Amino acid sequence: MNSASTHPPQTNVGMMLVISAPSGTGKSTLIRRLTAEFSAFTFSVSCTTRAPRPGELDGREYHFLTRDEFERRRDEGFFAEWAEVHGNLYGTPRQTTMDLLANGRDVIFDIDVQGARQIKSNMGQGCYVFVFPPSREVLEARLNGRGTDSEATIIRRLAAARDEIADSQWFDHWIVNDDLNLAYEQLRAIYVAEKTKPAYQESWQAALIRQWGIS
Ligand code: 5GP
Repeated sequence: MNSASTHPPQTNVGMMLVISAPSGTGKSTLIRRLTAEFSAFTFSVSCTTRAPRPGELDGREYHFLTRDEFERRRDEGFFAEWAEVHGNLYGTPRQTTMDLLANGRDVIFDIDVQGARQIKSNMGQGCYVFVFPPSREVLEARLNGRGTDSEATIIRRLAAARDEIADSQWFDHWIVNDDLNLAYEQLRAIYVAEKTKPAYQESWQAALIRQWGIS
């Protein structure tokens, strides 16, 4: 689908869709497709201490901070969660997230497993999806194919992938990204189904009270 859709209908309670996956699994592509299709989504822009990659814009992919600035904000409780990933610090701004949800926006998070766990325990809501590569060999080949990382970086990312997969049991949904279109259909179905939960349909609950006198 090319144009952004408002289906499923907007409600006045936003949902958090948290997506974790080892680096190189295709998670960013899946997220881009979902936010292009559904206009209800806002991507949660994290803060990070890593340097911008070519093409990345401050405020769009990330807010790029110095380590000092990140640590200052962290110590002030600015983040809903934060973690050190591949030697850099990453964190989700708390207030921005709360404001988006309060305004009925659905917020999509691309964060690592440690961060996803913290979001779940700090915010107590949300839908948690883990995306797997089809196999270790395929992930290694994809990381090599990107041509952006050194041998040492790839070895580090594979070790990190193992740790993330070892901690994937508690997620609500698992998707194996072998065929991108199928993986996308699964992610889309999860989102659409999740939005039918009464918790996200306050406006419909208000209509029920009006129409049927149920309170
Ligand atoms: P990259 O530097 O390749 O963009 O991201 C590296 C890893 O950091 C990815 O697994 C990504 O999901 C994770 N990440 C990005 N933003 C955040 C964040 O705000 N918090 C946490 N915990 N992880 C994040």
